Amino acid sequence: MEFIKIDLFDLVEMKKEHPCQTRSRLFQVVRVGADIKIQCQGCGNIIMMPRFDFNKRLKKVISHHDGTLFVKKDSK
Ligand SMILES: [Zn+2]
Repeated sequence: MEFIKIDLFDLVEMKKEHPCQTRSRLFQVVRVGADIKIQCQGCGNIIMMPRFDFNKRLKKVISHHDGTLFVKKDSK
């Protein structure tokens, strides 16, 4: 099994688009642990999934975190 290095706030592209209005495939990693949380860059919703599922669904890492935050501030 292949392990992909993911860091907090990395921007990633998933194989399947988020079933929201924007159909975005771009997500930002907002939590890394046993579970991964990613935030849809179209609608801002956060999805949580086990790391194993995340690795399967990940297409590629767009960019590693470089200090630019994409997280919207209106989440609780
Ligand atoms: Zn979305």
